[in-house]
This record gives sequence, structure tokens and C-alpha cells, in this order.
Amino acid sequence: MVDEVLLDAGVVTRCRRRVHLDNDPTMVGTPLAPPDPSAEQRIADAEAHRIDVSERLQAATAPISGDEDPAALDVTSADSAGAAWAVIPADLSPADRAGLTLTALEEGVAYIWGGLLPRDREAGRRGGIQLLVRTVDGYVPVLVVRHRITDPGEGARTTELTDLDPGNASTDPDRKVRSHPRDQLRLAHTYRLLQAAGFAEPDRAIGGVIGLDADVVLWHDLEAGTWPGGRTALEEYDSRFADRLAVARAAAAGEEPLAEPSRILECKGCPWWSTCEAELTRVRDVSLVVRGEDAMELRRAGIATVDKLAALDIHDEPPIQWTGVSFSDAVSLAKAWLADLTMVRRVPEVTVPRGDVEVDIDMESFGDSGAYLWGCLLNGADIGVEHGYHSFATWEPLPTDDEARSFAAFWAWLTDVRRRTAAAGLQFRAYCYNALAENRWLYASAERFAGLPGVPSAAEVRAFVDSDEWVDLFRSVSDQFLCSHGKGLKVVAPVAGFAWRDSEAGGEASMRWYRDAVGMDGAEPDVAQRSRLLRYNEDDVLATYALRLWISERAMTEVPFMDDL
Ligand code: SF4
Repeated sequence: MVDEVLLDAGVVTRCRRRVHLDNDPTMVGTPLAPPDPSAEQRIADAEAHRIDVSERLQAATAPISGDEDPAALDVTSADSAGAAWAVIPADLSPADRAGLTLTALEEGVAYIWGGLLPRDREAGRRGGIQLLVRTVDGYVPVLVVRHRITDPGEGARTTELTDLDPGNASTDPDRKVRSHPRDQLRLAHTYRLLQAAGFAEPDRAIGGVIGLDADVVLWHDLEAGTWPGGRTALEEYDSRFADRLAVARAAAAGEEPLAEPSRILECKGCPWWSTCEAELTRVRDVSLVVRGEDAMELRRAGIATVDKLAALDIHDEPPIQWTGVSFSDAVSLAKAWLADLTMVRRVPEVTVPRGDVEVDIDMESFGDSGAYLWGCLLNGADIGVEHGYHSFATWEPLPTDDEARSFAAFWAWLTDVRRRTAAAGLQFRAYCYNALAENRWLYASAERFAGLPGVPSAAEVRAFVDSDEWVDLFRSVSDQFLCSHGKGLKVVAPVAGFAWRDSEAGGEASMRWYRDAVGMDGAEPDVAQRSRLLRYNEDDVLATYALRLWISERAMTEVPFMDDL
């Protein structure tokens, strides 16, 4: 039944087509992409963070007046009257959780953890929140997230972490709000649910957020005109929710879809991608080559297909105001897509800086926990160091101080190679593919393990990163080529003729292998998976090696120049 559509807070920041597919009964049973292991890890980390915050709050929160014991109660029955805390068990059915939450609300429990609010069937809304805090005349929602919610500055309204009374909030002289629209929209969603259940404060709409640092509660006024155009969070939420509800109800009723697929950033991790990709390819949708806002604008301008984009004359007036690629790049990408070319040259001549002694470097990390492997491939002039692949790894589960040892060993080896090269009067170069990741962990490792044996200072790391010796091949590819299927190493290295030995090789698979390799969660370590990770890492550096040789020696003849298409 159409009226049975019930949406959670996530829909207001989710792709509209996804809302359609999630609610289209004819799509039930469609094979979906499995969850990305790194996303699963982020969810697990967020859950651990919430448990930690919950324990700290329960240990420190004074009971509301009249209550003497702040200890948490596990509310598994309706006997929570007078309690300071009610913890709603997460493993109960949604109906039982909602029932216990309602009981706790009705009995005026001061703090309700893990509550699921009664469904608002008429509004098509459902959901819960980490914490509900009782105030003088209602309840306010508090969200616990694992990202930073403030920046240095001033003006945020905060209370100390364990002070959950928004009445005590004051203007923080050291913090300003970091923009997280999603947090405010989730608070607005919960506020509307509280309102429907009759437990919202009648005269104001506020909500709190506890972030990664968990040092303060940040209080948001959901009725302040801080959104673009002077809108409030509640207004923004209401209009987005109404839109998503219409999309979902149309899908549920089998009516004309109100949302069509269009390739956006979110597609990358979306379980529906294979479904949408097939449809986009069938209609030769323009978003296959230019995504996001540009694709939408092009459709509005009547250029809905790759074919129409490719047929444009770049010397004419641009059909839209481009936000992503340039007009000429967009047309060339469309032509490349039609010609089934993964890459075309955007410059007449392509080059890569070369050295006498060359090292390709690839680092493997596990979420935010650390960098467990640095792999290096040495080639070039003989400087008395064995050529080939060298790895520096820790196989203790991250986070571990043993990472400092493996990082120091990697840095010592690299420094030795650089010194020997300089002493021989030769040019040294090190290469990676997308230096963002490597640089992040070079700096983070120097900082986290500062003072431990062999760990370089941040200044030493900076001197290397900022030098001409450190070459980001991703930049070379981005600057010199247009890539119609993306610029990832797994896409471009095969154009250079490279193939990974492991057919499952990829960032997501490596997360799974890592968990097994170190015996995460107390399992027995799987040594075979360590070998697999090392081979994967070795192939990654062999891939960058192959790619840069190809750019230097063959790309000029093998890849067409865009003006020649
Ligand atoms: S694959 Fe992309 S277009 Fe399709 S539902 Fe997901 S995010 Fe939306």
C-alpha cells in the first residue's frame, strides 16, 4: 500500500533515484552490490565510538532532580519509571524498541539511549536517534557522530560533554560550527518524529551533536536561518523530505518515476550501480561522461546523450555554465566514449619526470587505523641496493605501536637509497599514484610516532614531499590525459598493458584480506592472506612502473590526441 511508505532520516541526503529503487516493489530481489568493507569498518568504528560516548555519559551524568541513582537501566520491560537513564537494547525487534522508547518517554526518563520513535505513518516517517534528553517541557534529540563537528574559531553554542542540558549552552570562544548539513537534517527528522508523538518541546526546535573529539555537545537551533537563502534546517528538511516521500510513494504505487538515474559521486559506493549503469548505457546518457550538475544542465539544454554532446562544436557558445570539466574536455570525453577509448591525450606531447634511480611506492592502510604496509620497487642505476620489490609491514592488528617500527624501517631504507643516489651524483625520483593517501600517512606516522627510533620529523617528511623527487603519477595522468572510464590505477594501468595477478585485486578486497591476515576480532591470523596482500601491493608498484614507462615511451603513438578525434 502506498500509505505504508516509511522513510528514515537518510533519504534527505540520498540520491533521489535510490529512494525510487529502494521503494519500487518490482525491484525486490534485484542483485545488489555487497557493502564496501571500508564502509562496514566505518560503521563498526562509529558504533564503537557511540558505545564509548554512552558509557562516559552514563558514568558522569547526574540524575535529574528527584532521582538518586544515575546508573543506567537496561529497559527490557516497562519498569523505567523514575530512572535517569533508559538504554533501549539494539537487538530487539523494531516494534519492541519503539514500544520501550514510548514507555520511557511517557514515564519521563531523563536520558533515553538508542531510542526508536513511534512511526508517523501519515507523514511517512520513521527513525530513532542515539540520545533523547528530557528538558522542562519536552525532549530534545542528541546525535553522536564520528566526525569533527567544530573548527577553531568562535560562535558555536556548546555545553561541556557531560552537560546535556541545552539551557546551559553558551557561545564558545574557541569553536565555530563545522558545516555538516546531514547532522542538522537528521536532528530535524527526529524533531518531527518527536513532535508527531507529542514529546517535542513546544516552543523551540533544537538538537545536540557529540562529535569525534567528544569534548562538547554542540547545540543547533533548527529554526535559525543559517542555510542558503536564509532558510532554516527545518525548512530545508521539510522540503527535501516532501520531495523524497513523493518519489518513494510514486515508486511504491508503480506510477511514472519521479527520479531517473544520473551518474553522480554517490554512484561509486551505491549498491544499485550495476542497475543504473545498465540503464544509463542503454540510453547512452550524457552523465556517463560528465556527471553531477553538468549532466543535469546538459539534459535541460536538450543534450541528453553522449552522442549529442560529442556532436557539439567546441568553437560555438558553450551550451551550459560548466562546473566540472571544460567544454572542450567534455566533448572530447564524449568522442572518446563513442570510440571506446579509455584514454585520449589532451596535450600534443606527454612526459613523466624520470630519474637515474627510481622507486615506485605504494602504501596500504586500514581505514583510519593506520598504514600497515609500505611497498617499494627499486629500479635504475646500481647504487649497491638490491633492485626489485621491498616491503615494510606490521602484521599486528592496527592500531599498534609496531606500525612505528615498520614505518621507521621503510623511511630508513628510502633515506639510504636517496643518500646513495645523491652521493653518486645521480638524480633520484620516487613515484606513487595519487599522493594524497601516501602523504596523509607519511605525515600522520611522523606525528603519531614522533620521538620513536627512526621515525622522521614532520619537517623531514615535508622536505621530501615538497621536493621534485616525489612524483604523483595521478597528476601526470590527470594533466595529460582524458579518461572516459575514470582515472583510477586499475583503469589506466591496463591501457599500458599491465594486469594484476590476483583477479580479485582491489581496495575493497584488500580490506577483507587484511582482516584475515592479522586475525582481527581475535580470529587466528591467516598467513596466506599476508602473502596475498604483499603480492597485491607488489603488483600496484609494478603497475605504476609499467604506466610511467608506457607514458614515456609508447603513449604518444598509442593514444590519440583529442584534437584528432
Ligand atoms: S547508482 Fe547512482 S544514480 Fe543509481 S541509485 Fe545509486 S547513486 Fe543514484
